[in-house]
Amino acid sequence: MLESAKRVAEKKDWIKGATGDWEIVLGLEVHAQVLAKSKLFSGASAEFGGAPNDHVSLVDAAMPGMLPVINEFCVEQAVRTGLGLKAQINKRSVFDRKNYFYPDLPQGYQISQYKQPVVGEGSVHVDVDGRAVEVGIERLHLEQDAGKSLHDQHPNMSFVDLNRSGCALMEIVSKPDMRSADEAKAYVTKLRQIMRYLDTCDGNMEQGSLRADVNVSVRRPGGEFGTRCEIKNVNSIRFMGQAIEYEARRQIGILEDGGTIDQETRLFDARKGETRSMRSKEEAHDYRYFPDPDLLPLEIEDAFIGHIKATLPELPDEKIARFIRDYGLSAYDAQVLTSERASADFFEQVAKGRDGKAAANWVINELFGRLNKEGKTVETTPVSAAQLGEIVDLIAAGTISGKIAKDVFEIVWTEGGSPAQVVESRGMKQVTDTGAIEKAVDEIIAANPDKVEQVKAKPTMLGWFVGQVMKTTGGKANPQAVSDLLKAKLGI
Ligand code: ADP
Ligand code: MG
Repeated sequence: MLESAKRVAEKKDWIKGATGDWEIVLGLEVHAQVLAKSKLFSGASAEFGGAPNDHVSLVDAAMPGMLPVINEFCVEQAVRTGLGLKAQINKRSVFDRKNYFYPDLPQGYQISQYKQPVVGEGSVHVDVDGRAVEVGIERLHLEQDAGKSLHDQHPNMSFVDLNRSGCALMEIVSKPDMRSADEAKAYVTKLRQIMRYLDTCDGNMEQGSLRADVNVSVRRPGGEFGTRCEIKNVNSIRFMGQAIEYEARRQIGILEDGGTIDQETRLFDARKGETRSMRSKEEAHDYRYFPDPDLLPLEIEDAFIGHIKATLPELPDEKIARFIRDYGLSAYDAQVLTSERASADFFEQVAKGRDGKAAANWVINELFGRLNKEGKTVETTPVSAAQLGEIVDLIAAGTISGKIAKDVFEIVWTEGGSPAQVVESRGMKQVTDTGAIEKAVDEIIAANPDKVEQVKAKPTMLGWFVGQVMKTTGGKANPQAVSDLLKAKLGI
């Protein structure tokens, strides 16, 4: 657990109260739907959507006598995620019944894992404004999702949709290691990224495939942990930040007034931007957990884990380190490029055999900028990696300037085609012919005797001259040649 002096010294995250500083303490329980075709204990489709009750088997509807059968693929995805979180894989785990009554839970219990989860302790590294924070993972267990109650379809009736009932969820429980809304947001973002790299969860928060229960407490910096409240089912990263800020201030207000915090479950109302009480916190014994007699303990063999290990992709942290090392990128650029596996792959295609920094610059500043603006991704980009690479080559060879390259990019974006051919057919080649450049330089010098005097005292004015020459040559002059020639002629 991160309770180091280093963290206590980080005053910037503290909240100023009327009676002194406070520190937020956060632990998250993230529910991630396993990316699988069928459910955890039945063969019904786990696909999102569909007409109500279209994806429901007799098991999911809890028909008497129906028995659950474990979906091996879901177990594999849980183990894969565990390995991605550098966590301990438990070779023996147990499914338990968590008993409670709710209309969207036809069994009357949820099959979950309690004392013996499939994955134990691990850790996630997050970067918060350039500061490294390690968040401990307590456990990851497999469980079934519940169905959905629909209350707004009819004035005096409620309906139940069991499509989601029985879908496999991974519940990932963190240690109480986060100290600010920003850290919690970075943590969920990183978890999502890791699972998307692993292909174990699509991370789609709007569709509910990723949701977080946020445990919030406050304390005096470095003091004892306070009583926590749990905010249920927060389904966007932005809302999570708002919920944490609101909840921390609410608790500080109560404590500063001499009150105490009741441990309870709360809901975040996104419209009002506040949390409100849902119920007092239930205890584990309220659920009467016991091992599910319909399921044998889950025993995992070394070979099963070994096979998954052998097929793990390179994960974000490793990729970032490699991009910094092999392509000479800044940590920031490496992070941007690796945010999704597909964009990292795209960058590597552009960078192959070329200058990494130049490639990164074009991918991030020109391509990503443009993709974002048009709501496109590297999967739907009109400018391919090969085309972008060709543009980078044309600049490197001195055929076009960086400025003209932007025009070429624009033409290729809208009309397609080979950048080299675009440059050729439209006469966009950079002028390196010194005769033509010299003529332009001479003209500018002759027309601006006052500026010529000034630049001799203030060499930084040279940029103005370069700009003028570039203008008269339609941006096609080689800027280096222009600058060299000007320096020679002006004697600086
Ligand atoms: P329970 O079983 O009662 O839900 P857990 O020990 O499983 O409790 O903790 C649930 C979550 O609450 C974990 O993510 C943990 O990190 C977090 N948590 C525990 N204590 C605190 C605290 N004082 N403040 C904030 N979060 C906490
Ligand atoms: Mg818990």
